[in-house]
Amino acid sequence: MFQPDSVIPDFPILQQTIGGRPLVYLDNAATTQKPMAVLLASRHYYEAMNANIHRGTHHLARLATETFEKARQTVANHLNAASSDEVIFTSGTTDGINLVANILGLSGRIKPGDEVLISTLEHHSNIVPWQMLCERSGAILKVIPCHDDGTLDQAAFLSLLNERTKILSLTWISNSLGTVNPVAEMAAAAKNAGALVMLDAAQAVAHVRIDVQSLDIDFLAFSGHKIYAPTGTGVLWGRAEILNALPPWRGGGEMIKEVTFKKTTYNELPFKYEAGTPNIEGAIALGAAIDFVNGIGLSQIQKHEQALIRSAADALASIPGIRFFGPADRAGALSFNVAGIHHYDLGTLMDQMGVAVRTGHHCCQPLMARFGMTGTVRASFALYNTQKDVDALAEATRKAVSMLS
Ligand SMILES: *Cc1c(COP(=O)(O)O)cnc(C)c1O
Repeated sequence: MFQPDSVIPDFPILQQTIGGRPLVYLDNAATTQKPMAVLLASRHYYEAMNANIHRGTHHLARLATETFEKARQTVANHLNAASSDEVIFTSGTTDGINLVANILGLSGRIKPGDEVLISTLEHHSNIVPWQMLCERSGAILKVIPCHDDGTLDQAAFLSLLNERTKILSLTWISNSLGTVNPVAEMAAAAKNAGALVMLDAAQAVAHVRIDVQSLDIDFLAFSGHKIYAPTGTGVLWGRAEILNALPPWRGGGEMIKEVTFKKTTYNELPFKYEAGTPNIEGAIALGAAIDFVNGIGLSQIQKHEQALIRSAADALASIPGIRFFGPADRAGALSFNVAGIHHYDLGTLMDQMGVAVRTGHHCCQPLMARFGMTGTVRASFALYNTQKDVDALAEATRKAVSMLS
């Protein structure tokens, strides 16, 4: 069994105290902390090989290019992509979703009256790019409703699918409620209706195994910073057949084959979608983060986090007036409110006790509106959290509630 105590020393930021108490970091759905392996990969890049890639003939440029492309291969292996050509480096999930929404728009495939399908559980970054696409193209945004337990209404989903559905873009795991959507079944149903399928894997990437070939999907996006890698990194995976058929989006260096003032021809995948100098160090550090996670094993991590999240729900359940959101079978995040107490007040007092949780709408305002609230307190877990963190969470919540009631 994986022992989190053995990896905590790898995370320098976790060694500090806040107001004399050890830091309890439970805001991992917002961003994760970085292990030494990732910090050293970033530093090593700048100390030993900083150069622009894919162009230079000199030693450093070759070394930087090889290391960058090795990181791409690491990502491809991790996702079980058919080829590393299908791995586009982006600045994050938001960037990846905007890329897909924009190239679909530019392709002319989205016509007035067509439908784009998302769900109530989506993060703003899987809502707004599609709204913008709909505004420009005359398509209609449709939303899969959810039940009171925070799971999606599957019957309503099936009835929303029709021949006008051009794309289903769905979060795999809700960053607000921890709901794990049955993405394999839903993707298959959407494909069957003739739609493209995109998954927002921003939360999934750190918690579950992703195998893009076993899923009936076309695109998948995630952010590096949610899987122990630096901010400003991310990946869009897309099926080569689809990406080859779609137009480029951003124009500039790297994405071209030949430029004249009359006409430009475009580069092959993946470079077609990587205009300009990428975050080279970040991509390399993302490769190191994936190696770090695989060194422990996602199934070990998953087991460990599931045990913590259940333990946290049990420990908090006896607090008078507490209400949990999301199904009992959740991943990553545990969201709750306490009757008569504002989530912000609760979170502020918990922070003073060294417990970092998130309060507010978690970039999911429509989901909060669905439950008739402005926000929740959210504790979210990573591989370095321990039972001690759960105990601290329960104690801080209890104390804060008694101070506020
Ligand atoms: C964090 C998150 C995003 C946005 O990621 P960025 O890194 O801000 O681009 C999108 N969807 C989900 C489910 C998230 O958790």
